[in-house]
Amino acid sequence: MYIYNSLTKKVEEFVPHTPGKVAMYTCGPTVYHFAHIGNLRSYIMEDVLEKTLRYNGFDVKRVMNITDVGHLSSDADSGEDKMLKGAKREHKSVMEIAKYYTDAFMSDCAKLNIKTPDVVEPATNCIPEFIHMIEVLLEKGYAYKAGENIYFDTSKLESYYVFGNQSSDDLKIGVRDDVTEDTNKRNKNDFVLWFTKSKFEDQALKWDSPWGVGYPGWHIECSCIGMKHLGEYMDIHCGGVDNMFPHHTNEIAQSEAFSGHKWCKYWFHVHHLNDESGKMSKSKGEFLTVSLLEEKGYDPIAYRFFALLSHYRKPLTFSYDALDQATATYKKLKNKVLSIPEEGEVDESKVEEWHKNFAETVGNDVNTSMGITLLYDVLKSDLNGNTKRAIIDDFDYVLSLDLLKADEASEGGEEDELTAYVEAKIEERKQAKKAKDFEKADAIRNELLSKGIVIEDTREGVKWKRQ
Ligand code: AMP
Ligand code: ZN
Repeated sequence: MYIYNSLTKKVEEFVPHTPGKVAMYTCGPTVYHFAHIGNLRSYIMEDVLEKTLRYNGFDVKRVMNITDVGHLSSDADSGEDKMLKGAKREHKSVMEIAKYYTDAFMSDCAKLNIKTPDVVEPATNCIPEFIHMIEVLLEKGYAYKAGENIYFDTSKLESYYVFGNQSSDDLKIGVRDDVTEDTNKRNKNDFVLWFTKSKFEDQALKWDSPWGVGYPGWHIECSCIGMKHLGEYMDIHCGGVDNMFPHHTNEIAQSEAFSGHKWCKYWFHVHHLNDESGKMSKSKGEFLTVSLLEEKGYDPIAYRFFALLSHYRKPLTFSYDALDQATATYKKLKNKVLSIPEEGEVDESKVEEWHKNFAETVGNDVNTSMGITLLYDVLKSDLNGNTKRAIIDDFDYVLSLDLLKADEASEGGEEDELTAYVEAKIEERKQAKKAKDFEKADAIRNELLSKGIVIEDTREGVKWKRQ
């Protein structure tokens, strides 16, 4: 399998630390609000990555955190605590907010056929682990106390900007104009490991620590939760591109300073879904959620299909027109699949051959659109119905588009089914004519005629109508 690695900026062969086993980590959501469909684009593509690894024979253990403490409105340790902001907005406690939005996130993921990671761990579960890591960082001289907070000292590292291209100006990303710089920091990019003398006096969640009552910074959770469940070596770490700096850069800094060796080999970053006005945001206008799409009559799986049509390393623009188009294509595809006749013996050798082909195609840097193209190739092939069904079912392990699940997706009901059936027959006739099997071509025309469908060969292709 090949994956683009943000650390080396190259597509590389994926070779895990322990042969055959993959330690995979995903930065989870900050549960102060619903996830928007941009966030979910990242989780869909990470889900496909996990399933592609499994499809290629790897034994994957995937861990995800839930950020329920420590994430401030600026990624650079300033601004208001996001969780507190959510709690105030809804007149609830931070823990109530965390529970409500964690459940909402899990339910969105289920609707999008995103598999739940093997381990899902809220940050607030792991305070002793955070304290331990911070103590070690202090002992090793990578951390210091200033203004009662504990900071990571980025000047102690040989190279801090591991993803390249960043300059100190990058710290401005996400920093609001009204946020003042933290003067306790020795270096501009130092980051908080533990807040003790918090300027947020109404901070709801606080824990005792060797440095006084306080709460953890945002970045420490992913290093600790990752190590707690996956050990000191991680194979692949995922997140949206905005996580690259400062979050992932800081995760690497503290994890490698802690363990004294390289931590994670491959970094997988999903590019953003934007709306037509630019960046997708939770505070701007109509906030695009899975529930909103459902209210508007869209099938969440059609959104998954929309996401799979594009490569994860390209920004994607969302519009209802684009989603309408994807929905129509998805319905047509699904109806085509559902109308495959259940006939013939499954040819296992063919299933295996296509499995290999699909594993290589999608395994080439999670090329989902090429995977979908392969699906159409199966539909067009001259394999018998049951073999086609078996292959598509196998592909759908990765794509998770419910292609063989007959349900309300064909809301157009009988009409859609008829269209799919006729189109499949027309395709079959085309193939027969190509193979000069005119007898079969005529038989298909007659079969359609017996069902009241007339087909006509025109210069623009085959047209059909009801008699
Ligand atoms: P958050 O809940 O803000 O911590 O974000 C959850 C995940 O969504 C992170 O991996 C982010 O990098 C990712 N993310 C944030 N905005 C977008 C977007 N517009 N498109 C894709 N992924 C995003
Ligand atoms: Zn993280």
